[in-house]
Amino acid sequence: MACAGGGFALSAGGETRQNGAGKGAIMQRWIKGDPPVEVILRRTSRARRFSLRVSRLDGRVTLSMPTRADESDALAFAEAQADWIRGAMARSTPMAPVGFGTVLPIEGRSVTLMPGAVRAPLLQGEALILPPDPARAALRAEAYLKLHARVRLQAASDRYAALAGRAHAGVSLRDARSRWGSCSSDGRLMYSWRLIMAPPQVLDYVAAHEVAHLLEMNHSPAFWAVVRRLMPDYQTHRRWLKSRGNDLHRHLFRPQA
Ligand SMILES: [Zn+2]
Repeated sequence: MACAGGGFALSAGGETRQNGAGKGAIMQRWIKGDPPVEVILRRTSRARRFSLRVSRLDGRVTLSMPTRADESDALAFAEAQADWIRGAMARSTPMAPVGFGTVLPIEGRSVTLMPGAVRAPLLQGEALILPPDPARAALRAEAYLKLHARVRLQAASDRYAALAGRAHAGVSLRDARSRWGSCSSDGRLMYSWRLIMAPPQVLDYVAAHEVAHLLEMNHSPAFWAVVRRLMPDYQTHRRWLKSRGNDLHRHLFRPQA
């Protein structure tokens, strides 16, 4: 969700505190109203105009502005967009702590976390049975998902690398919110383990995408031709990731920092 516009010359909104001044500064400001809305102002040399972004994940509001722009103009712009901001915040996905009774998607199927007389996680029908200690349920579920993510992403990477005729240099897992996968110049593939929660073809698409970077280190038409060769119907799965992928981040396995 984003919205952009040109400069405004109205009066500024109420400001209350400031964090880290200086070059490339990020400042916190408030838009008046009930309740007041916190806006993070970010000066960036790349910005040519004001643009607002509301995180779909946590509802955080960021306003990017050109380095030399006037802060009061930026705040006026944000205030003029207050209704849009509040609407976008209301639509952002709330974070949900994981525990017994939580329904998690695993390879696209809904699975409920249940306590049981097991020593290790056991997938049984529509339940993931975990040892009964509730304090460790979330971390055990996370470990289970990571384990399966590793197996599936390794297999998919190997399969697509063989199809592409190019070897990769290893697979590793992260929990990055900003990207589902990456490919380094020395051929190392990195993926978000949360892909194991997506439908299997979506995980496959990300593997095909990163393997295609072994041949084309860009997003040129030649790159997309490689992706299509590896996975002819990739567009359906790419669309899923764009529209639904954020939901995979709402499950909170660890206390937030
Ligand atoms: Zn890419």
